[in-house]
Amino acid sequence: MTTLLRLRLRCRLRLRRLLSTAALATLATAALASTPPASLAQTAAPATAPTAPATTPARPLPGVKHVLLIGLDGFGSYAWEKAAMPNLKTLAASGASTLKARPIMPVISGPNWGAHLTGAGPESHGYLGNGAKPSLPPAVLSKYGRFPGIFGLVRDAYPNAETGAIYDWARIHELIEDKAVTYERIVYQSRSSRRLPAHVSVGIYEESTARTSVDAANYIATKKPFFTFVYFGAPDETGHHIGHDTPAYYATLKKCDDHIGQLLGALKTAGIEKETIVIVVSDHGGLGKGHGEGTMQGMQTPWIIAGPGVKRGHTLVPGIVHYDTTPTIAHILGISPPPTFRGRPALDAFAAKNKN
Ligand SMILES: [Zn+2]
Repeated sequence: MTTLLRLRLRCRLRLRRLLSTAALATLATAALASTPPASLAQTAAPATAPTAPATTPARPLPGVKHVLLIGLDGFGSYAWEKAAMPNLKTLAASGASTLKARPIMPVISGPNWGAHLTGAGPESHGYLGNGAKPSLPPAVLSKYGRFPGIFGLVRDAYPNAETGAIYDWARIHELIEDKAVTYERIVYQSRSSRRLPAHVSVGIYEESTARTSVDAANYIATKKPFFTFVYFGAPDETGHHIGHDTPAYYATLKKCDDHIGQLLGALKTAGIEKETIVIVVSDHGGLGKGHGEGTMQGMQTPWIIAGPGVKRGHTLVPGIVHYDTTPTIAHILGISPPPTFRGRPALDAFAAKNKN
């Protein structure tokens, strides 16, 4: 502590003591007079009750009324050129994107979706693997009983907001603050699919992903949610069972692109496509039948953002890490970053007037 700081502290203590003496004197006078003077509250207040800081309500960036986050599990940037994904490529061209987003380590789905959805890494959110329970106790628990993430932040800033999470990998449930979600739908893939022949197993998962898309599209079209997270697990499943960079893998990506088209169509049906920012992310790429940890096939993912106020046809500066997704959404929605964030918003995505 510096001498200056110590002096200031001593002055403040002395001031506080003087104020309490004044308050006591007023109290004594008041007791004697039997009716408390009207000024008592004001006289006593400064010593005991610090004024609460003024809170300004959160407000999204101009022109933004909705955010849709779409996640594709196991979609590596290596596949971008060969992938027949017209809907996604048109979306990327109409917004800002990079093929150089990086997973956090370890390159496993749980830790990375945790990073996307909380803005922090496994050292904080506690998910080092794909287990139902975190390997480490989360560093902090929000009032929703989980590590603070996007759903709790949205609920706190916008208490009446309609929010949805629709996904086909049960583990996502543990990675979100489910109590802060208005509509949560888990489209279960068959657990026994892991013991089935590859093409059958992949087919089952593709079916789950297709049903996820239908459910999410209906939800968006009817509820016009403020924030929605939709997760497609099929690319990862095809990667594990048949292999990355195979015709089957690209066929799965093509199906996912159809689903993305279906979700974008739902925004149009709802009449909210011009006021929605859409973000598309993945958790990792892959090599052979694995995630390709430590190889560039595994370590680079597409990160795409498009919508009102987002630069068009812009390539983002490299450096995005998966824990930057939630801070970017918080920035869009005018939510102040909590101390748990390790990531930063991708400010480079926004036209100058939308940087706040
Ligand atoms: Zn996987």
